[in-house]
Amino acid sequence: MSRVAPTLRLIAGLSILTIILFASSTPSSAQGCLPGSLQRTLSQIRAKFGPVRIVSTFRRGAIMAGSGRRSLHASCRAVDFHAPAGKRAAVIAWLRANHSGGLGVYGCSMSHIHIDNGGRYSWNKCVGGRRMANR
Ligand SMILES: [Zn+2]
Repeated sequence: MSRVAPTLRLIAGLSILTIILFASSTPSSAQGCLPGSLQRTLSQIRAKFGPVRIVSTFRRGAIMAGSGRRSLHASCRAVDFHAPAGKRAAVIAWLRANHSGGLGVYGCSMSHIHIDNGGRYSWNKCVGGRRMANR
């Protein structure tokens, strides 16, 4: 028997443990994994409108509702957040004018705003009064 084999088994075991620990820590509202462009957009919103409350950034294996396609949240290229109180409409208007990636808002007045660094598109929906994350 090679002396390397037990070491390899140990490494494999630790890798599996790491994957389990990592998977159990999601979803996340940590902002460190976001691309610089989204971090800058959030900073600009904070500077202009006040503090935002991050709902989620990274969601392991996230799928877009309805389409079954992989969500940009699955690769931490999207962030859902609540605008400062009373500033939601102003933040959305600012994003429409200044944000070059995806923008998602929901018809439900209390819902969060989604931005990502995918293609420029926007949606506005409120499914059955529930706040659905769909991208
Ligand atoms: Zn989202």
